[in-house]
Amino acid sequence: MAIAYFDGRFIDESEALIPVSTHALHYGTAIFEGIRSYGDGSRAAIFRPREHYERFLRNAAIIRMKPEYTVDQLIELTIELLHQNKNYSSTYIRPLFYKSETAIGAHIYPGEKLAIYTREWAPRAIPPPTATATISRWRRNSRLSVPAGAKISGLYVNSALAISESMERGYDQTIMLTTSGEVAEGYGANLFAVFDRKVVTPPETADILAGITRDTLMHYFQSRDDLTISVESISPEQLLKADELFLAGTGLEVIPLVSVDGTPISSGDLGPITRDAAQWYRDLATGKIDAPDGWLVPLTAD
Ligand code: PMP
Repeated sequence: MAIAYFDGRFIDESEALIPVSTHALHYGTAIFEGIRSYGDGSRAAIFRPREHYERFLRNAAIIRMKPEYTVDQLIELTIELLHQNKNYSSTYIRPLFYKSETAIGAHIYPGEKLAIYTREWAPRAIPPPTATATISRWRRNSRLSVPAGAKISGLYVNSALAISESMERGYDQTIMLTTSGEVAEGYGANLFAVFDRKVVTPPETADILAGITRDTLMHYFQSRDDLTISVESISPEQLLKADELFLAGTGLEVIPLVSVDGTPISSGDLGPITRDAAQWYRDLATGKIDAPDGWLVPLTAD
């Protein structure tokens, strides 16, 4: 039996149900996070939960929620949930705040509820399997229309259409452009391109969700004397001239992109910088190398 935290209680996930008239279901007025823990079956650690829950609360405010939870309380609830589910191997953690009003009408009413549930989720192989990509026909949500950088449920129709359409056309991954034609990101991960010894990732003004994995990897690239890291706008043509391209996010981890719309990126194979970054990220998240204070929140089976 899987346990979920739902509206103030730990209950059987199959009983964590919402009314069909719930505002969030109709209007997308929910926010969520994707957090991960890595473990060996008896000991695990949650990776950067503080940064995830800080973002969660910032996004809650953007859609006018007034949650009565602090970051520390959310971390405590998550630890308790992982213990209750005996999630001591690798786990995906999904917190959700949703607008729970059941009246009809798009305007935002007071009142939201919190749910958190977990799934066992094995890490990807290291070195990571490569993927093909296409440039999506759907442009990324524009910040002129919506808070494009926030993890708001309704905005994910954009991601859902982009990845589904790209997969239907036979590609593994999708790259989304902004409405003005710059490279933005993947459907659920940020994009990095390597040009010679410079690693580039698009800025927040490219309507991206500023990922915690993106931030983590920027620390890595900064720490390498042989590389520079730069936040810069990237054009679709530049993508094809990259030595390496990859996506990075909590759920997808590091995904090397070896072609874009059939054009190989450099050798068309996994590049050394992507391979090293994927290995470093895994070592960091699994505690094999030292992480900055507070990035890993450990839990141990009793
Ligand atoms: N962009 C989008 C659209 C996402 O959904 C995600 C996943 N949260 C990311 C980027 C990567 O963010 P993070 O590294 O914080 O998981």
